[in-house]
Amino acid sequence: MSVIVRFAPSPTGFLHIGNARTAVYNWLFALKHAGQFILRLDDTDVERSKDEFALAIVEDMHWLGIHFHSTFKQSNKLARYAQVADELRAKGRLYACYETADELDRKRKRQMARGVPPVYDRAGLKLTAEERAVLEAEGRSPHWRLLLNDVDIHFADGIRGDVRIAAGSMSDPVLIREDGSPLYTFSSVVDDADSGVTHIIRGEDHVTNSGVQIQLFEAMGTKAPIFAHHNLLTAASGEGLSKRLGSLSLRGLARDGYEPMTVAALAALIGTSDAVAPVKDMDTLAQLFEFHKISRAPAKFDPAELVVLNARTLHEMEFVIAQPKLVAAGIACNEALWRAVRGNISFVKDVQGWVDIISKPIATPELSAEDADYVKSAAASLPQQWDGDTWKLWIEALKASTGRKGKPLFMPLRLTLTGLEHGPEMAQLLPLIKRDEVLKRLGI
Ligand code: GLU
Repeated sequence: MSVIVRFAPSPTGFLHIGNARTAVYNWLFALKHAGQFILRLDDTDVERSKDEFALAIVEDMHWLGIHFHSTFKQSNKLARYAQVADELRAKGRLYACYETADELDRKRKRQMARGVPPVYDRAGLKLTAEERAVLEAEGRSPHWRLLLNDVDIHFADGIRGDVRIAAGSMSDPVLIREDGSPLYTFSSVVDDADSGVTHIIRGEDHVTNSGVQIQLFEAMGTKAPIFAHHNLLTAASGEGLSKRLGSLSLRGLARDGYEPMTVAALAALIGTSDAVAPVKDMDTLAQLFEFHKISRAPAKFDPAELVVLNARTLHEMEFVIAQPKLVAAGIACNEALWRAVRGNISFVKDVQGWVDIISKPIATPELSAEDADYVKSAAASLPQQWDGDTWKLWIEALKASTGRKGKPLFMPLRLTLTGLEHGPEMAQLLPLIKRDEVLKRLGI
């Protein structure tokens, strides 16, 4: 069976880190099984769906490193949904209901007052053709419900194992609104069936939907795909992703300078049995991906982890990968410089700070009189040889001539040459500063 998965966001906002988790899981599964990945835009909510969000979703997916094999909008498939609705009506699985939202609300309240679960009473199913005609003559248009079979729905979830949903305790779901537009439950199943989707990987907030949708697949005469419901991201405090965290949009993260692989790796690895660690590329992440590694407990997400992982990702990044990013950021940086500084940055843009330290005048540090003398006299031993061994040769010579060792031996030099107490290995950094400039900074 060749794998077909889909990611189905509604274009009603920008993608955020929680959406990224679902998208990345589907992508990794497709990569791992040499399958196909479909981007479906669930835009049947005309009021809230916007073209600008649809466009942003496509851009953000590319930024993240996900390349879909095909894409479509549900709004282009309305005729198809109407056709399937007719087939379900003919099979007696879709029935007309005429209650207004208020009437339904009153019914629910009466049921609750009697201590009965607020399940739809199937009044619509009992209407005769004459009663329907009367209601329609009053100006009412029907909405349409799926007639659920009163059996336990049972499925083997790829992540959660055995799942049982008692359909008898559920209301028959509305599939079509009064204005004839399809609801998500319906259009989603029609599309999953039409696209030949083999695995539906999505958040566990959809488990109950899946129960209903399995019956709908069956009513349509199609075998339901395999479902895998992953845990959701929650704030570190344990609450659902707050507005603030939820608003960590992918484009916001891109603008703030996060690497796509940082976001993809974090979104994929938190809440699993794999440690959160830098991952080189999607193929490597795909090799790690297994349903059984995903925890059933919520995945705690702390945005501070993103900064740490971004830094760790850059520390391991090869120059060939970094180069286009540096060019895009307008930073002149060759391989030697990259190797020297990558361990001391959290974002690619931080490289500029080191370029400036190497090539522009720096503030003179405050040194004790003794250290100031030491620094000045050190210039006399500065080797002519200007390469990766220069620092070692220089320090050895100074050690022998001054008797200094440890921090007093190198720190005054680091401070004088970089203006900072911490930074890249001096052995790597020193040859990147021009020899004349070094002499100048030493006070010569
Ligand atoms: N548009 C739905 C959502 O974003 C899709 C859910 C699904 O994957 O079926 O929640």
